[in-house]
Amino acid sequence: MKLKYLGTAAAEGYPAMFCDCENCRKAMKTGGKNIRSRSQALIDDSLLMDFPCDTYYHCLLNGINLHDIKNCLITHVHRDHLYPVDLLYFKPGFSHPAPDYMLNMYGSEDVEKTLSAVLPDAVKKHFKVITVAPFEPFSVGKYTVTALKAWHGTDNPFIYVISDGNKTILYGHDTDVFPEETWEYMKAEKIRFDLVSIDCTEGAYEELSYHGHMCLGRNIKCRERMLADGIIDEKTVMVLNHFSHNGKDSNYTEFEPIAKEHGFETSFDGMEIVL
Ligand SMILES: [Zn+2]
Ligand SMILES: [Zn+2]
Ligand SMILES: [Zn+2]
Repeated sequence: MKLKYLGTAAAEGYPAMFCDCENCRKAMKTGGKNIRSRSQALIDDSLLMDFPCDTYYHCLLNGINLHDIKNCLITHVHRDHLYPVDLLYFKPGFSHPAPDYMLNMYGSEDVEKTLSAVLPDAVKKHFKVITVAPFEPFSVGKYTVTALKAWHGTDNPFIYVISDGNKTILYGHDTDVFPEETWEYMKAEKIRFDLVSIDCTEGAYEELSYHGHMCLGRNIKCRERMLADGIIDEKTVMVLNHFSHNGKDSNYTEFEPIAKEHGFETSFDGMEIVL
């Protein structure tokens, strides 16, 4: 399996628009891996994770024709993960998809509610929303996918277990250390991950004053529990993702060596991991 990170920032991007903080200034000055667009990933060049407002930019940068993508999993409906405005370009005259082209978008009932409220019928012809329930595996092409409950600010946020029958990935940003139901499910089903990608919105902080995201301290606790539950082992690739400029030491250059000490890889836009 190949996981490619197309974007790795939290909602406002990194550097953030309109921001004059030290982290943003540093990122702009140093460039390279310190520049992060809104979070999105692509599995095996075919399964898209989320549909943020930077989708178009990611396609240009990576030579992706969205017409070649048939399936997209949506984690939750915050606008940095589901940006319905760009789906309006399915409108006749704005794009010329093949008559039978269909983009399948999988997500919680929140996705259906969000998209049906804003999209006209002319647009709906070329994409289908498939509502999935947590803890019930379903097939997407060659993959078995299971949505697990996340701990975040929307009604039904998900993280996803994706397996091709050989390797298994957990793709999980925009969540705090998981809800108890999710821990219990992973343990009961004896899931064993080859790669875990989790939220590190707040960088190197040990703890946070709010719930819904993680920082390095919470990432460490999460990894320890996963090891104790036998969900991962020392060979599992652990990746941190979804960085905010508000995070401590969160420029890639500063954060990468700190994360490494604790057994984590630090994602960057364009990072590719082949399992
Ligand atoms: Zn987000
Ligand atoms: Zn900033
Ligand atoms: Zn969010």
